[in-house]
Amino acid sequence: KLYNQVQDLKGSIRVYCRVRPFLPGQFNYLSSVDHIEEGSITINTLAKNGKGRKSFNFNKVFGPSATQEEVFSDTRPLVRSVLDGYNVCIFAYGQTGSGKTFTMTGPKDLTETSQGVNYRALSDLFLLAEQRKDTFFYDVSVQMIEIYNEQVRDLLTTDGLTRRYPFAVYVPDASLVHVSSTSDVIDLMNIGQRNRAVGATALNDRSSRSHRRDLTSGNILRGCMHLVDLAGSERVDKSEVTGDRLKEAQHINRSLSALGDVISSLAQKNSHVPYRNSKLTQLLQDSLGGQAKTLMFVHISPEPDAIGETISTLKFAERVA
Ligand code: ADP
Ligand code: MG
Repeated sequence: KLYNQVQDLKGSIRVYCRVRPFLPGQFNYLSSVDHIEEGSITINTLAKNGKGRKSFNFNKVFGPSATQEEVFSDTRPLVRSVLDGYNVCIFAYGQTGSGKTFTMTGPKDLTETSQGVNYRALSDLFLLAEQRKDTFFYDVSVQMIEIYNEQVRDLLTTDGLTRRYPFAVYVPDASLVHVSSTSDVIDLMNIGQRNRAVGATALNDRSSRSHRRDLTSGNILRGCMHLVDLAGSERVDKSEVTGDRLKEAQHINRSLSALGDVISSLAQKNSHVPYRNSKLTQLLQDSLGGQAKTLMFVHISPEPDAIGETISTLKFAERVA
């Protein structure tokens, strides 16, 4: 409790760590995770002989058996503050295969219980808006974009064409679609998913804006929520990739480190925050820092083979916490 209060005073950046379970068919693996407590995780840096433990502290750690519902229940207060006019950013960080898309969207064979943060967040906003309908009128709209090689693409174009916005900062021209129910959101996510040109590697941002009008005073309050499924954080071996793959990897590295620089300078309350070093951080400038609230989910894979990436992920997370 005290730790959380201190965290609240310290700033509005929260870091949650989530460990993926072993996948069906993975037998005889020793997890690189030694043990987990509510706010800390200890890993075996040399998982083969059990030596070399290292602990990292976060606001919360979710073990491999944590359900989507449990994960969301700790995210809900943040989501709800959007309807009070706050800007919120939720990121999923981690190497490819560590569970980013699972946390944000869910598994491929999606069911209601396996829905991730994206669906739950929007459903919760509609629920709360309904509860408050005698006091406030809410209007909620959604954008879905993808950033690939520093190009912004609108994922909600209905004409099937991908539009490009090389100079867009607030994505003023990306489709802004009014939504009024969870099923509207599900339809849009399906359209957006189909329009993703580049599959697994690009950065994916769903942002939802809410306008709240006070029914007695007429005052309008605007809130915005960004739900960002980041590109895989793994280091790509420069000797093994060339051409487009290399260019892509370099863009990804640059934009993830730009994001890390922005969040860590916000956490340290530096006066200069380097927003301009990547398209992602430019785009999110109004939703990072100031009164805005940030939540970073860092994902790790349990396999000993992944230990190198696991350690670099945890170090990245420690830097922004
Ligand atoms: P990423 O988006 O980081 O590349 P995915 O979310 O696609 O990773 O996860 C990789 C695989 O692991 C998928 O098959 C996914 O369904 C599964 N997975 C990830 N996290 C969990 C989890 N918490 N519980 C069960 N399966 C998971
Ligand atoms: Mg993914």
